[in-house]
Amino acid sequence: MLFKEIPGHTEVKERLIRSINEERVSHAQLFLGQSGSGSLAMAVAYAQYLNCTNRIENDSCGECSSCRKYQKLIHPDLHFSYPFIAKKAEDVSTVYIKEWREALTKHPYMGLQEWMDALEAENKQPNINIAECHDIIKRLTYKAYEAEYKVLIMWLPEYLGVTGNTLLKLIEEPPEKTLFILVAEQYDQILNTILSRTQLIKINRFSDEEIKAHLLSLGCEEHAAARYAYLADGSMQAGINLMSQEENNLEELFVQWFRLCYGKRGIEIQGLIEQIAPASFGRENQKNMLRFGLQVIRDCLTHNASASEIIRFESKHFEIAKMASILNMENASYIIDDIEKAIYHIERNANAKIVFLDLSVQVMRDLQRKM
Ligand SMILES: [Zn+2]
Repeated sequence: MLFKEIPGHTEVKERLIRSINEERVSHAQLFLGQSGSGSLAMAVAYAQYLNCTNRIENDSCGECSSCRKYQKLIHPDLHFSYPFIAKKAEDVSTVYIKEWREALTKHPYMGLQEWMDALEAENKQPNINIAECHDIIKRLTYKAYEAEYKVLIMWLPEYLGVTGNTLLKLIEEPPEKTLFILVAEQYDQILNTILSRTQLIKINRFSDEEIKAHLLSLGCEEHAAARYAYLADGSMQAGINLMSQEENNLEELFVQWFRLCYGKRGIEIQGLIEQIAPASFGRENQKNMLRFGLQVIRDCLTHNASASEIIRFESKHFEIAKMASILNMENASYIIDDIEKAIYHIERNANAKIVFLDLSVQVMRDLQRKM
């Protein structure tokens, strides 16, 4: 992974590059950024730059022997650790190294969901077990094979549990020329004992513009790219998922559901909920459908305020004028509030069927409100 392959993040890239050029590499670092922020890709780019034997200004060369192995994630001195599903107590993460390399190559901005999908883990709970911690200690004890620096990138140390304390000595006093990079999403879920021993590097969320530009470069069309970037909420992976899941037609589903609520067509609403509530539809899709809805409602209000030229996008699934005609400031503010609550509950793993049934009843009621 080259720095230039990761969109944006100019400041943090400069900071990382400077630390290497000035030989101020801290041996234990914590890259902290929300899911889809590119923190894992950044850690790989950083380690690749550290070991590149022919660095160019501000990036790895991409061509030296070290870079070529790094690009394929097969360098013998590049180690990974990540949450996985242990079938036996002695299983370690390298059991899944083939799947890991494939997943990370295909989804450099992946979150836990993409990784669990790659493992076909369904609802099993991943973790980083004690056998893995012992294996890390073993892997890092040997001298580097060919690189100057041996690097271990641990993704999602949140999944360590107290077994992580086994690693404290290693993090505090790693063998010479060993770099430990932890890539985390949630600061408060990491063991304090680990936090106190690492240098913090914050990776910001991507801006809408950065996500949009990246989606355009992947062949997305302009209107859709702007919409997905807005919905992605700073996560590049979420933007890519929206783009590749177009066949799920989240916008059509939302508009269909909204129309049914307006017509108070209870039985059909139940039928639609049977379609979107199951786990197979996915929580991300459920949330995105509703977040899309929030945007549509806001656009309708803008339309009503005769400012239709500033509306962000067009749609083939509905006419904004028709939908806007049933909304006003009064009922829309209630509906927005109810949808936001539903998103909140879905994020916290509430039963999706109950959330959608409840939301439907609320929205049917909201739509009856007069100015
Ligand atoms: Zn190189």
